[in-house]
Amino acid sequence: MSQRIAVIPGDGIGAEVTDAARAVLDAVCRRHGIDLDYDEYDWSCDRYLREGTMMPTDGLAVLRPYDAILLGAVGAPGVPDHVSLWGLLIPIRRAFRQYVNLRPVRVFDGVDSPVRDARPGEVDLVVVRENVEGEYSEIGGRFDRGHPEEMAVQESVFTRAGVSRIADYAFELARTRRRHVTSATKSNGIVHTMPFWDEVVAERAAAFTDVRWRGEHIDALAAKFVLQPGSFDVVVASNLFGDILSDLAAAVAGSIGIAPSGNLDPTRTYPSMFEPVHGSAPDIAGTGVANPVGAVWSAAMMLDHLGHGAAARDVLGAIEATLREPGTRTRDLGGTAGTREVTAALVDRLDG
Ligand code: ATP
Ligand code: MG
Repeated sequence: MSQRIAVIPGDGIGAEVTDAARAVLDAVCRRHGIDLDYDEYDWSCDRYLREGTMMPTDGLAVLRPYDAILLGAVGAPGVPDHVSLWGLLIPIRRAFRQYVNLRPVRVFDGVDSPVRDARPGEVDLVVVRENVEGEYSEIGGRFDRGHPEEMAVQESVFTRAGVSRIADYAFELARTRRRHVTSATKSNGIVHTMPFWDEVVAERAAAFTDVRWRGEHIDALAAKFVLQPGSFDVVVASNLFGDILSDLAAAVAGSIGIAPSGNLDPTRTYPSMFEPVHGSAPDIAGTGVANPVGAVWSAAMMLDHLGHGAAARDVLGAIEATLREPGTRTRDLGGTAGTREVTAALVDRLDG
């Protein structure tokens, strides 16, 4: 039986890297006898500029029956970020209860990290970001606009159910890796929500006696991401802390062009969505130099989520081998290869 994938290439280099991911998926699926069926949707800022909305009004109902969503990137000059966020990404994350944002980070052989102590092979961590509650709530407001006493209030919302399930996900993931979890906190400064976070994480940890864990304040943790990135395995964090840590970690890995992400509903009730971390990169769109690795790695995460772990590992192996060769690195990594050459090299490895 085939699995159904909704593909949303989006804007700018989104289409270029999604084509690359499709080519790699075709190769690895041939090899493993996996049957994926794709439908492509042109939902994007381009569409917004043409028709006034990022996606049709029944867009979520259209996506609902799919097994997964593969997204390129959305964003365009002249279209404010909140349009692409609130018109597409956030409705999908919320409607499909994608409460985990998963961001693996590795320093590959052949990729220079800006961080001296991040040597290839030594950095292999995953940021597990809570994706639907926490600091990014709409509760609050602006008061007494224009008055000297003007103020803004922004509430954070943490629920026992929300913290429990993200902690459980992190501990379960750690079991498949090096069995260590770091929980980002700030209970010395944020006196209600963060002590609650700590308490619930500790409660959940008790069910995973085979996994070591520690809580660490976000300020010290951020410094350690730069000073000792090799000391982390799974890092679990609230929406805001996870957002910051995952961008920081992607920078440590050497290029935003290789960073992947998954927005997951681990219960598999709804489709999960996989996308490279980078945006539409209008400055290089159409020039053929976009690094496809972030999108290809995201596709590997999708395979893993769909139950094709061996195929996912093969794609990772092809990425490692391709990055190791100077001739198949893109410009952002100091190479001269274009999207096509890198994609062809990945496909070759998987076809061979
Ligand atoms: P958005 O608002 O869509 O997130 P952005 O400008 O904030 O866009 P990106 O689109 O990710 O962020 O681009 C940031 C920089 O990184 C740009 O200079 C872009 O060319 C570069 N970049 C992003 N993705 C890639 C890629 N896959 N390969 C090479 N360079 C990339
Ligand atoms: Mg951006």
